[in-house]
Amino acid sequence: MEGDQPSTLMCGVVAMDKGSFCYRVCAVCERTLSENSPCGFCNFKGSNPGSKRLYKILLSIASDTKVFVVVCFDRAARVLFGCSADEFFDFAKLNPFSVVTAGKLLQGEMFQMTLSKPKNGNAEHLRVVSVVPLRTEYSPVIQTLKKIYGVGPSTSI
Ligand SMILES: [Zn+2]
Repeated sequence: MEGDQPSTLMCGVVAMDKGSFCYRVCAVCERTLSENSPCGFCNFKGSNPGSKRLYKILLSIASDTKVFVVVCFDRAARVLFGCSADEFFDFAKLNPFSVVTAGKLLQGEMFQMTLSKPKNGNAEHLRVVSVVPLRTEYSPVIQTLKKIYGVGPSTSI
C-alpha cells in the first residue's frame, strides 16, 4: 500500500457481502452495543437512551488493477442506500430478499471512492471515506427497491 494518505480512485462494485450490514449503537453516544444490552455508559446517567443502527458494509470493488474488499461505514453507505440503516433494516424485515437484491443493484455500479487506511492497525480492510456515484442517473438502493417491491410514495409510474 502507498503511504497513509487517503487515496481516491474510480472503481466498480463486484459484490456486496450479504451477511450483516449494520450494527447497533447507543442513540446518544454511538458506542457499539452488544446484542440487546443498553449503553452502560449512558445508563450511569440514569436513563436508557435506546439504540439505533449504523451501516457497516463489506464491498468487493475492482479498480483498474485489482479486486479487493473495503469496509463502508454509515456516512458513505447512506450515499449508496439513500436511507438510514434503521430504515433499511425495517424494509429488509418486510422484504426478506432486499439485502440480496441490494447487492445485485450495486453490482457493476461505478463510483469514485476515497479510501483510507484504518486507524486501528488490526483492521484488515481499507475504509471508504467518501463515495460519489459516477452515473448521473444513479438512484440509491432504497429507491429502486421500493419501486421493485411496490412500496412507498407512488409519485412516479
Ligand atoms: Zn451511550
